[in-house]
Amino acid sequence: MERFCLNPEHQNKQIIGYCVQELCRKQTRALCMKCMTGQAHSGHKIIEQTEEEDFFREPNLIYTDLIAKLNLIKRQFTQGISFLERILEKHYRPIPLNNIGNQEVDNKINCILKLDKVQKLVNDRIDNIFEHTLKSIKLTYQDLTIGTEFQCYEQTQKQNYKEALPLIEQCLLLDSKNTILKLAKAEIYSNTNKVLEARQIYEQILQTEDANPWAFLEFHKLLNQQERR
Ligand SMILES: [Zn+2]
Ligand SMILES: [Zn+2]
Repeated sequence: MERFCLNPEHQNKQIIGYCVQELCRKQTRALCMKCMTGQAHSGHKIIEQTEEEDFFREPNLIYTDLIAKLNLIKRQFTQGISFLERILEKHYRPIPLNNIGNQEVDNKINCILKLDKVQKLVNDRIDNIFEHTLKSIKLTYQDLTIGTEFQCYEQTQKQNYKEALPLIEQCLLLDSKNTILKLAKAEIYSNTNKVLEARQIYEQILQTEDANPWAFLEFHKLLNQQERR
C-alpha cells in the first residue's frame, strides 16, 4: 500500500520505514525519508519497510504460542467439565428404579440420597474456582485494551467512579455493543448503591448473551443480596 507522510512539511513523501523505539512519543511511527534522516526520531530504533518481516518474526512466534495456549486451555477445560458430567450421568442421574436390576438399585438409591451433598461439593469447589478464573480473565482483557477504553477500566479499578463514568459513556457511544464496558458501568452502579440500574444492565446483557458469565454471576449476586434484605 502506498502511503504518504502525515507531517505537513513532508507532503507527498512516501512512507519507507517505521520507528520501533519502545517509548516513542512522536506523532507517528510511519516515516518518510525526511523523517528518517531528520531530528524527530534521532537515536530511535528505526526499521525500513523491507525489514518488517524480521521485526515481526519473534512477535509472530509469541502470538501463535498465545493463541495455541488459549485454545488448549479451552479444550482442556471443556474436557475436564465433561468428566464431571460423565460421572454424574453414570451414578447420580435419577432414573426409574423399575428400569434397573436389583443389584444396581442399592447403589442408585444411595447415590440419589446424597445428591444434595454432591451438589454442594460441586458448588463449593468448582464455582469458586470458576469465579476466580473469570475475574482474572476479565482483568487481563481490560489490561489488553488501549486508549480511552483502557482508561475506563483503570479508573473503575481505582474506584475513581466520577472520572470513569463519563469515559465509559464516551466509549459506549462509539462501541454500543461492548459488553465489558457495560459490565464496568454496572459495577460502578452496584458499588454506589444504584442497585436497580446495575440490575437493569445485567438483565440487558443476559437478554442478548444468555451465557455471559460475568453478567450472570453479578446478576445473581445482586438478587441474593436483595432477598436477604
Ligand atoms: Zn515525514
Ligand atoms: Zn521514534
